[in-house]
Amino acid sequence: MNVDQSKIPQATAKRLPLYYRFLKNLHSSGKQRVSSAELSDAVKVDSATIRRDFSYFGALGKKGYGYNVNYLLSFFRKTLDQDELTNVALIGVGNLGTAFLHYNFSKNNNTIIQMAFDVDEDKIGSEIGGVPVFHLDNLEQHLSEDIAVAILTVPAQVAQSITDRLIEKGIKGILNFTPARLNVPEHIRIHHIDLAVELQSLVYFLKHYPSES
Ligand code: ATP
Repeated sequence: MNVDQSKIPQATAKRLPLYYRFLKNLHSSGKQRVSSAELSDAVKVDSATIRRDFSYFGALGKKGYGYNVNYLLSFFRKTLDQDELTNVALIGVGNLGTAFLHYNFSKNNNTIIQMAFDVDEDKIGSEIGGVPVFHLDNLEQHLSEDIAVAILTVPAQVAQSITDRLIEKGIKGILNFTPARLNVPEHIRIHHIDLAVELQSLVYFLKHYPSES
């Protein structure tokens, strides 16, 4: 199972957590093998794409047999570093940030929000969903090397300056929920999730690409 991970295309890599979640469920229900058609139906990715994705990590399904669930699962666990805990910091404990603090990410993957930051005195010093909330002024003091990822749920206008501070302190990846387009150095991985844009695009698709049925 020696796979050069740099050879896995990014689009494939983005689907891995989806596959992993489904395979984990299959495994716990005692299933030993799965076909690409079954997988396709469950994760809503077409089966040709699944076959191509899986071929990158040497999982070649056999005709009439499908894929070995145990093999795939151990591959995903290793590839997604599921044996390693990823510590996360959250900046901005507003409505969205608070929801994330209550949401138990570790149920489905090995990530855990260890600390949160805000500037609102009413929130500082409290614990939300078991996560301590600190003042943003003390960001540098609390962030340590073992926190690699940050979730940004602050107002857009403060997102860039906070991002610069996070990077300065060694954060490697940012999940940006603000509408701000952030400038980051090349070695920093940033994923933008703009919920308003996603919703608008869904509505647009419903209107302009209605399903045939
Ligand atoms: P949401 O967008 O999450 O629904 P909201 O409407 O509750 O949030 P926003 O004004 O978007 O509130 O602010 C989100 C959170 O970010 C608030 O808790 C606010 O106190 C906090 N915040 C504002 N400015 C900063 C800053 N400079 N640093 C850290 N947190 C900040």
